[in-house]
This record gives sequence, structure tokens and C-alpha cells, in this order.
Amino acid sequence: SSDEEGGEEYLFKIVIIGDSAVGKSNLLSRYARNEFNLHSKATIGVEFQTQSMEIDGKEVKAQIWDTAGQERFRAVTSAYYRGAVGALIVYDISRRTTFDSVGRWLDELKMQLADLGIYIWHYNHKMSMISFFGDAMPNSGIASKLVLLCLIVLHTHSDTTVAWMLVGNKCDLENIRDVSVEEAKCLAEAEGLFFMETSALDSTNVKKAFEIVIREIYNNVS
Ligand code: GDP
Ligand code: MG
Repeated sequence: SSDEEGGEEYLFKIVIIGDSAVGKSNLLSRYARNEFNLHSKATIGVEFQTQSMEIDGKEVKAQIWDTAGQERFRAVTSAYYRGAVGALIVYDISRRTTFDSVGRWLDELKMQLADLGIYIWHYNHKMSMISFFGDAMPNSGIASKLVLLCLIVLHTHSDTTVAWMLVGNKCDLENIRDVSVEEAKCLAEAEGLFFMETSALDSTNVKKAFEIVIREIYNNVS
């Protein structure tokens, strides 16, 4: 806890997105509670689970959000994304259509990130640059203030504060595979994402996937 000597607390919001039935809820329940449901139904309302891990002797908590099935109607709200510094974009390796949707999910993430620019800026403790520009333009009018705002947003975008991972779930369904590892890797590389195939059913790489994302965020802010 924060009362312990040298105690620092970290809490990161991570969102899980992707088409319906790719296994998002089961990835979360496998990671947070080591549970798997063959017939999981969409939950009512937005749900998250908090899971801790230790990095450098510090307790790092991840607040991981799962959709309540709104993705079925492509109606995931901006509140869902607000403040998120990590994301798992999930598809099902046995259903190509879910892989084809990844681009759209990425577009949505990027759009939401633009709105989060200032938020992440504060989060990243980079107030110094704001005051630097404030001092450099003491008598600045509205135009230069707008330029300043753009600079902040641009800087936020160029910064890798966020950690995103492309997740090919259901890798236990090798016999009906519809998306190759190679093409997924290719997409991940092009988009600058981590990539991993997982199985919420047999636990393959589930812990690893979440922990890579959490570790990356930690490295970016610490
Ligand atoms: P969500 O809509 O993305 O949250 O998907 P769910 O977690 O509800 O899972 C949808 C269906 O896929 C359920 O029937 C799960 O049992 C099944 N499922 C989830 N993960 C896996 C997996 O890794 N392997 C297999 N074979 N089935 C899975
Ligand atoms: Mg679900």
C-alpha cells in the first residue's frame, strides 16, 4: 500500500475491445479469476476487474474493462475508453471476419485517443513543457494558444504512453484456423502493436499478454 516505505501506487486502465464472441470476457475472467465459461452471456452494464502484479518491488494495479456486449451494435461509448492507457484488440483465429474488423477497432481507439490528449499529458507528468510555452508566449493571443494546444496534442501522439496488443484468441482451435500467425504479425508490425496468440480455454499466454501490456505502460510512466 502507499503507507509502506517507498510505497508508490500505480493504477492503469486497460480496455479490451474486438468483435462479439471473440473471447474478451473469458480472457478477463481467465486472467483475473482463472475461470472460463463455455456459455458466457453478455454482462449488464460496463464491468471491470482489478488485478495486481509486482514490478520492481512495486504493486502495479491494472483496472481492466470489459464491454457489456455493446460491441455487437458497434456502440462502445467514449466513457469506456476514457483514461485508458492500454488496450487489447482481440480477434478469433478461427473467424476471419473478426480479424478483418481489427482495423476499424484501431480507428476507433485512435479517435478516442485524440480526445484523451490532454488527459494523458497530465498523466505523464509533463507539465514542464506547458509552462515553457506559457513563458515563451507571455502576451499570446488566441491563435498562439491554439498552436500551443496543437503542439501538446501532437506531442502526446508521438509519445508511446499507450500500450496496445493485438490478440489472436482461441489458438486451441488450430484445426479450424482461419487467420495465419504470419499475417497477424504483419498487421501488428505495421501498426506498432504487440502481438500474441492466446487461449482463454486452455490458458495459453493469457497471463503473459496482460502482463506485457502492464509492464510496457509501467516502463513508459516510471
Ligand atoms: P466476448 O463476446 O468477446 O466477450 O466473448 P466471450 O468471452 O463471451 O466468448 C464467446 C464464446 O467463445 C464463448 O462460448 C466462449 O466459451 C468461447 N471462447 C472464449 N475464449 C475461447 C478460447 O480461447 N477457445 C475456445 N475454443 N473458445 C473460447
Ligand atoms: Mg463479453
